[in-house]
This record gives sequence, C-alpha cells and structure tokens, in this order.
Amino acid sequence: MREPEVALRTLLELTSVLAGDLSLDEALAAATDAALQLFGGQHASIRILDESGHELLCGARSGAGLEERPLTFRQGQGVVGWVVDTGEPARLDDAQADERFVSFEEQSYTIGSLLVVPLTNLGRVIGALSVTSETRGYFSEDDLVLGHLLANCTIGAIERARLQRLALTDAQTMSWSHAYLKPRLEEELRAGKETGVAVLLMDLDHFKNVNDTWGHAVGDRVLRAFADVVRQTIRRKDLLFRRGGEEFVVVMPGCTLDDAERVAERVRTTLASEPLDGGEGIHVDQRVSIGVALWDGAESASALEARADAAMYDAKRGGRNQISTAPPAGL
Ligand code: GH3
Ligand code: MG
Ligand code: MG
Repeated sequence: MREPEVALRTLLELTSVLAGDLSLDEALAAATDAALQLFGGQHASIRILDESGHELLCGARSGAGLEERPLTFRQGQGVVGWVVDTGEPARLDDAQADERFVSFEEQSYTIGSLLVVPLTNLGRVIGALSVTSETRGYFSEDDLVLGHLLANCTIGAIERARLQRLALTDAQTMSWSHAYLKPRLEEELRAGKETGVAVLLMDLDHFKNVNDTWGHAVGDRVLRAFADVVRQTIRRKDLLFRRGGEEFVVVMPGCTLDDAERVAERVRTTLASEPLDGGEGIHVDQRVSIGVALWDGAESASALEARADAAMYDAKRGGRNQISTAPPAGL
C-alpha cells in the first residue's frame, strides 16, 4: 500500500481538479498525472475506445517516453485490449512473461510490471488506465484497489468532457462543428497577441457536380475524405472546423502569414495530386479554393473570418483550385 495519507491527498486534489470545467484532454492528463503521483511508477496512460469501438486511442500519457509517438491498440490487443474486452483489471508482476503482453520496438523504456484498470461508465467499458514500473512485482493487491478508486474518481469527468466534445463535433467529417468556431477562434485570438493567428477558409470547387454525378452518399464520403486529407496536412496545433456544407475553416494558432500560405498550398496540392475515395470504387478528382487571412492583432473573430471569406471568393473568381491571401485589414 502506498502511504495512505499521500494517496488520500492525491485523490482529493484530483477530484477537486476534475470538478472544474476541463476539456477531455485536460481531464485525462489530470488522471495520468495523479496515477504517477499515487504509484510512483514510470509511465501512466489512458486509452479510450474510438467511436467505431475497434481502436484504443491514446488519450493522455505521463512520465517516460513522452517523446515517442503514442501507441494505438486494436480492440482486444495487448493487456489494455484484454482489460477493455473483459472489464477485468490486470496486475502483472512480470509483464514480459505474460502472454497478453505485446512489446513495441519503438518503446524506449522497460516495462517490468504493469497495472491496468478498466474505465467503466453505466456498465460499459470505455477505456483503461495503465501504470507501468520497470521493477518486477512492483504493484500490490492494494494498488489494484487504489487504481480502481482512481478510475472511478475520473470516469464522470471523462464522460462529461467526452459528451461536450461530441456535441462540438461534426459527426460526418469528425471536424469541429460550426457552433464551436466563433468561441474557439475568439479564445485563440485572446491568447495569440504575441504569436499570431491565421485562418484558412476552404470551399470545395464545383462540389455540386459530385452529388449530381454520383449521388449524395458519395458526396458525403468525399467530404469525409477531404477532412481526412486536411487533418493529415495541417500542423498538429491547427484546428479544423466544418463551417457548413462543403466549407471548412482551419484556425492556425502561433502562425505567420508565410506558414499559413505554405499549409494552404500544401492542402491544395495534396488534393490536386490524389483523388478522394468516394466509396463504391469511385475516386473523385476534387479541387479546393482557399482564402488565407492573418489576424491584424485587433480585429474581431468575425472580421477575420470575413476577410478569409473574401479572399476565398477571390480564389474562385481567379479560376478556382488556388489560394488567395487577404490584404491587410482596412485596405
Ligand atoms: P463552387 O466551386 O462555386 O464552390 O461550386 P459548388 O458546386 O461547390 O458550390 P455550391 O455552393 O453551389 O454548391 C455546394 C454544394 O454542396 C450544394 C450541396 O448540394 C452540396 N452539399 C452541401 N452540404 C452537403 C453534404 O453534407 N453532403 C453532400 N453530399 N453534399 C452537400
Ligand atoms: Mg460553398
Ligand atoms: Mg463549393
């Protein structure tokens, strides 16, 4: 058993933090930080089942190995997959000797022992919390109880934040919804005085033709494929919104005009070089027109968006399949 007083204080602090207005990422990070503090292991992580239920995505990590790419487990894969499938916790004294354990070459730290507890809400397992130690036999039976307690303290906040996120997500393209654009852009502008903020406004070219030629269902899949391409092309900190229909906005925090133009051009050329998968064996050569605008440091979120919009229309007028940069505000 860890020091009971330390454990109590850690859990008390965690529940206080989780009672605040946290995003999903913040709630998960608070939980993995608390897990490390509680057990003193070397690495703690939370994996959450994705919407399809087939993949366990990494939600948060604390401790060793943060510089590595986060690992994704398939449903049923590894100890985490077993815990999520069965709803049972796992305490491995010798992780490497357990047949459920899978090693990943890219993992730089040694895992001697492992504690994994399910995150359960309304009787449904939505993910798992794992803590590792390089020492074998590190976790006790009491630690298993503590782990469960930690998971139970966390699940309410995780579910609340997850539902909030879902409400702000466009389910068709898995980008952020229109309703979230203005509040989030305003937030980024408040934070971005020093670092700059840019906006890309993207409108698919002649998208009506896709629906007219192949039908609405193919159109829907092309929109999803487009959003996937954009997500793979923009920087990690950029945010993709669906403004409506076949119009998307990228909000780029910490960004110069050069950066924004480079990213916009990359989206345009990527699209022009590979057809989008419309399903049913149909591949669609889709093009896009993009308006780029850099925040002038004073204008409102709506004014910035309007400048990006006007630039996008310039790109349309210029013949489509191109990017156009808005002149500075007031010109
Ligand atoms: P332009 O190059 O001028 O932008 O031409 P466009 O055809 O893309 O522009 P327009 O605004 O006339 O048409 C947009 C089309 O997008 C019309 C509508 O049928 C289609 N659309 C909007 N939302 C959706 C959607 O969710 N799914 C599908 N399949 N089509 C959609
Ligand atoms: Mg449009
Ligand atoms: Mg269009």
